[in-house]
Amino acid sequence: MKALVAHAAKDLRIEERDIPAPGPGEVLVRIVRGGICGSDLHYYNHGGFGTVRLCEPMILGHEVAGRIEAVGAGVLGLDPGTLVAVSPSRPCFTCLYCLEGRQNHCLDMRFYGSAMPFPHSQGAFREYLVADARQCAVAEGLSEGEAAMAEPLAVVLHAAGRAGDLMGRRVLVTGCGPIGQLAVAVARAAGAVEIVATDVAAFTLAKAREMGADRTHDVAVDAQALGAYSASKGRFDVLFECSGVASALSGAIPALRPGAIAVQLGLGGDMTLPVQAMTAKEIELRGSFRFHAEFFTAVEMMRMGRLDVRPLITQTLPITEAQAAFETASDRTRAIKTQIAFA
Ligand SMILES: [Zn+2]
Ligand SMILES: [Zn+2]
Repeated sequence: MKALVAHAAKDLRIEERDIPAPGPGEVLVRIVRGGICGSDLHYYNHGGFGTVRLCEPMILGHEVAGRIEAVGAGVLGLDPGTLVAVSPSRPCFTCLYCLEGRQNHCLDMRFYGSAMPFPHSQGAFREYLVADARQCAVAEGLSEGEAAMAEPLAVVLHAAGRAGDLMGRRVLVTGCGPIGQLAVAVARAAGAVEIVATDVAAFTLAKAREMGADRTHDVAVDAQALGAYSASKGRFDVLFECSGVASALSGAIPALRPGAIAVQLGLGGDMTLPVQAMTAKEIELRGSFRFHAEFFTAVEMMRMGRLDVRPLITQTLPITEAQAAFETASDRTRAIKTQIAFA
């Protein structure tokens, strides 16, 4: 089988690997779609991010969907041919955080395609993948591309949980990559009364309006665009910071109402914060990292038509054009989510 292996920055290779066999409780999945995520792009473009570096060849990818090819002993309810979204969250289920039900903080997480541990946790951009049956969410009724959107949607559902009730709230989303776009969609689905989004690319802002943003602002064109929302101590109850850019977070603070909740999703390294202003307005900063059970909620929400992620899939390229797919995914003037077709 073919696998997409990152060796170093801009060194992506299609390599042959043996097709694995499923053991008890496991399934063999014929991967059909894989979404290129920001972390994949960091490995591809820069060989890593922050202190996380590629130290050995690593199969990329963690946003995948496929069809059940074979099942191991004891697996029920996953018949061959069934479309499944495969959760990349593989916690140990035995550490103290797993036992607390906070698997996203697992001390021994083996998240697909992550160079955080060494040896690296190999990824899922491959033609066949053995997964635990409990990682698989049945995605029948969805397109293969939608099924492969379950992971980023799960990230945003976890963040929405961190934000709390969004019903009737005014929501600001900074950064309109796939996560920001999904934050707009989730806020809409959760009953937000006003959603404003910012970015620095006209293409992504147009898409955010399509996903449900009431207004968008290009802060590259008008850096002071949020100034209008700072009257009377601010307008927004909730911020989803999805850019990882320090100026996006600090620039949003004046637009937040007293007591607002700022959820940080963007992973952009360490930031300097306007702590004085945040203190005086009693603003709460909340982190958000990965997900666990939300993966299954994400698939159910899509299957039940609660939100439509299809407009976000801007390109689908075959595995033979993987290099072009990664270059395309890096271009924010025309790509939101670029997916790779494995079959
Ligand atoms: Zn992802
Ligand atoms: Zn654990």
